[in-house]
Amino acid sequence: MKNIILMAPIAAGKGTQGEILKNEYGYVPISTGAIFREIIATGSPLGKQVKDIIDSGKLIDDDLTIKIVKEKLLEVGDKPFILDGFPRTLNQAKIINKFMEEKSLDYQVIYLDLSLDTSMKRTLGRLICECGKSYNIYYDELKAKNEGICDSCGKTLYKRDEDNEETFKLRYNNLMNNLKPVLDLYQSIGKLNIVNAEQSVDEIHQEIMKVLK
Ligand code: AMP
Repeated sequence: MKNIILMAPIAAGKGTQGEILKNEYGYVPISTGAIFREIIATGSPLGKQVKDIIDSGKLIDDDLTIKIVKEKLLEVGDKPFILDGFPRTLNQAKIINKFMEEKSLDYQVIYLDLSLDTSMKRTLGRLICECGKSYNIYYDELKAKNEGICDSCGKTLYKRDEDNEETFKLRYNNLMNNLKPVLDLYQSIGKLNIVNAEQSVDEIHQEIMKVLK
């Protein structure tokens, strides 16, 4: 299977699609957001720094982010991987492209296209679990079977601190401003595939599979 760089506005379903590809096809998801949340959970000084940056709606600096991703890519071995939420800046894209070229790692870029309104609605309705599963109170297909409890592991679901309206707008604008040149870069080298993320989870998955086959 082809390696994937999965890009999207906030709450477009990157995590959900990554989870399906992991369970059905053995993909290894490398989610920078999830890695940062793990670092926060350690309660270390670095974790506190990372939390402050994320809560303020800003991006973590490129050096730390790129270092983490390179380490993870080297751990993956022969399995196909999904880069989820990375690259988010042109600098990250250029450095990781060079790295993947050196390591002969080929990939396709998939952009989950979502309007601002839908992105906000999904963000404000999102609940997540420590195990990585993500739910949404506004969508029947994404609701937990028992309200507030993870279907997979039974733990209590929670809202991310940064999933509030004020931080959303800042994050959305920062993210889209940063993503635009990254998408232009991938378009110019023929790697960009755009998938309409306003569709259901299953429809999005089917479109992703068309790109991967
Ligand atoms: P996510 O779970 O992808 O929405 O990421 C949560 C937060 O982690 C983002 O709002 C950023 O502050 C930070 N983050 C995730 N990925 C990156 C990245 N590639 N570069 C910089 N910061 C990132």
